[in-house]
Amino acid sequence: MSEKILVLGSNGQIGVELVSALRNTYGENNVIACDIRRPDYDVKNSGPFEFVNVLDKVTLNSVFLKYKPSQVYLLAALLSATGEQNPKLAWDLNMNGLLNILDLALIYKTAKVYWPSSIAVFGPSSTKVDTPQSCVMDPNTVYGISKLAGERWCEYYYQKFGLDVRSIRYPGLISYKAAPGGGTTDYAIHIFHEALRKGSYASFLSAETELPMMYMDDAIRGTIALMDSSASQITIRSSYNFAGVSFTPEDLAAEIRKYIPEFKLTYLENDPRQQIADSWPRSINDSFAKTDWGWKPEFDLAKLTNEMLQNLKNNK
Ligand code: NAD
Repeated sequence: MSEKILVLGSNGQIGVELVSALRNTYGENNVIACDIRRPDYDVKNSGPFEFVNVLDKVTLNSVFLKYKPSQVYLLAALLSATGEQNPKLAWDLNMNGLLNILDLALIYKTAKVYWPSSIAVFGPSSTKVDTPQSCVMDPNTVYGISKLAGERWCEYYYQKFGLDVRSIRYPGLISYKAAPGGGTTDYAIHIFHEALRKGSYASFLSAETELPMMYMDDAIRGTIALMDSSASQITIRSSYNFAGVSFTPEDLAAEIRKYIPEFKLTYLENDPRQQIADSWPRSINDSFAKTDWGWKPEFDLAKLTNEMLQNLKNNK
């Protein structure tokens, strides 16, 4: 049977690249992009698009009825920094959006559901270096709280109802195609744009703030690898730790200077995102993803810097 795949939240930083990767594999008409925002050129012109608000159960139901999806990817969410500006909306969207999809997936017998979690599930008391899959988790952002609760719901629907839900705890994702959606790691994207545009950047995170990051190509490849794995390979039904590369703003600036020697990095003070970053891990242990479904990142800091600068230059 051919797959029918719904991607909800298709026009964001991850969605535009995931939709295009899925359409390459499964065919343009079998991947339905859905968002509350008008799609950008690539998403709109390469296959079907529907306006869908994941909090609107009536429209959601009609889209499930129309397409009877075999797979659903739920990407619609409010991210860490934006979530702090509107905590109630973040909770509503991140939680009720997920519950709506899990319930419809049961009703319409969707074979597989993908929902991303985040390193934001960890908090100030979590192990900071080589953070294991399970440890003390005390997230102190509404985003992290909603992601941790969402992970528990995913496992609950798997255990109670046998729904095949799969999830990854993404680190900060670095890409050039779509703008980042308001996360704490966005500096690591803005820095490339500003380095090329004016040769300098003022970072909202401090020089020594080390965070787990990943180039988007790795994230998309890993996501699809998890979804393509057989259910018997998957031992974690909350969400998998998932690692690429960890670095500080200074590490990134040093790499950028190999291409733009005069690049100048300065630092802003008292940005609220610093506090969020300080509560997150510096590096992640992803041994379960490696063992269970063969995860291996391909992009280190040098390779992702090269790709970002080349692609942004070519897109100008
Ligand atoms: P984004 O903000 O770039 O995109 C989210 C998309 O969802 C947007 O196109 C937005 O219009 C859409 N949306 C918002 N509310 C909606 C609603 N009510 N109904 C339908 N669509 C709606 O986010 P992203 O970076 O692509 O992230 C996607 C998922 O991955 C989120 O769950 C996020 O928490 C997770 N994640 C992202 C990162 C990252 O670095 N980008 C890291 C960790 C986890």
